This record gives sequence, structure tokens and C-alpha cells, in this order.
Amino acid sequence: MAGEVRVIEDKATPIKKEWEEYARKGNWTVKGYEIVRAPSGPGKIEESPEAEYMVIYRPHGVLYHHSYGLVSKFFKGLIDRKFLGTKCPKCKTVYCPPRVHCWNPACRVAETKWIELPLKGKVHTFSVMLFSAEAFLEMLPFVLGYVQIEGADTALPVQIVTAPTDVFVGQKVNIRFREERKGDLMDIYALPAKGQTVPEDSCLHANKKNIQDLNRDLENTYEFLNKRFGIKKADVKKRWKAK
Ligand SMILES: [Zn+2]
Repeated sequence: MAGEVRVIEDKATPIKKEWEEYARKGNWTVKGYEIVRAPSGPGKIEESPEAEYMVIYRPHGVLYHHSYGLVSKFFKGLIDRKFLGTKCPKCKTVYCPPRVHCWNPACRVAETKWIELPLKGKVHTFSVMLFSAEAFLEMLPFVLGYVQIEGADTALPVQIVTAPTDVFVGQKVNIRFREERKGDLMDIYALPAKGQTVPEDSCLHANKKNIQDLNRDLENTYEFLNKRFGIKKADVKKRWKAK
């Protein structure tokens, strides 16, 4: 019936149940504490007088849920191994990530049409991630590319699985789907297309200091990974081997 919200496909009930249980038990109350001795006061930390502090442990959680609105088709497409964009029927601009309405002022918010896009593109720009939010720490160090999909006029962020020293602007990449997909941008990653060499004048390689600085920073990240997670540098490098 029009105006009614109906569930067409349900992959959320387990998490809703898990969350209800969490909320029912009042799981955000204090669960434990520690008494620690640590520096207090001014001066050098090793010369500072100590004091006793009480540290409490209180789990905290949030179940965040929101709608992808009229771009839902794009995210559902990722689950179904389809890569979609939208096209303006007036000015023919192709959007990936999709836009529901064209942003060209001449088109006066014309509604776009869905199209399937090829699983390839090129690197528009990139960042080498040497540190990150908690959820991505074990993936470090990784390359986050801003990739322009073939046929699209816009670009979207995609992880590029390659050695950080080998990425360059203009690099051709192929889009791959991860085995486990959840309906977000982490469902895909990019692999550099075969047969490309890193140009000597690429932004990382044109200036020797850039590459020296990057290699030094990478060493710091390897050290962090080893200390925090016991991940070895050799195992990190294995991730970048051609798949
Ligand atoms: Zn348009």
C-alpha cells in the first residue's frame, strides 16, 4: 500500500536482537575498575610526583541506522556485484558515486537514470594512510585512492591494494568486490592494471625527499603494527602482491 514502509529483504534482525539484548541488560553501566599510579604535577614526566588514580571501565555502544535514500540502489548493487552510477538525461553527466538529481544548474535538478559501469578506472589522486581510526588500524598502511571510473565524470574513494610507493596519478585500476559484502564502499577495492610502470616524474618519485620521507614513515607504521598487533612487516608486504 502506498505510504507504508514494508521490509522487502531483511538482513538486520540478528543485529537488532543483539542490540535489544545489550540495551535490556543496561550494558553501559560500570563493569570494573583499576587503581593506577601515574605522574601528577608539572615538570619533566620522569621527575613528576606520583598520585593514585581510579580508572573505571564502562562499555559504551551505539546502534546507528540510517537510510541510503534514493541512492540505495548503488549500495544494493555492491552486494550483488554490480557497479552502478547515474546519468543525467539532459547534459549526459555520469555520476559515480551516484547523484539522484543533476547538479548542473542548467539541468534544473533533473532526475538522473541508473546505468551499469565498467569495473575499471584511473587514479585521480590518492593518500597514503599511515595512521587511521581504530576500525582500520590493522589494514595500515594502505592507499586510499580517489578513482574516476571509466565513463564517469566524478570520482569516488576506493582502497587501492598496492605498495604505497607504487601508486601514481593516472594509474589504471580494476575494481574488485570483496568476498564478504555489507553494502558500503569497503565492499570494493582496486588493483592496479597489469603492465604499468611507475613514471619517474610521478608526484612521489619526482622528488627524492618525498620517497625517503614516505619510506621512513612506513617504517614507523610497521613498528606500530608489530607492537600493537604482532603483525610482521613481511606479512604486510604480502598483501600487495598481485592477485
Ligand atoms: Zn544534467
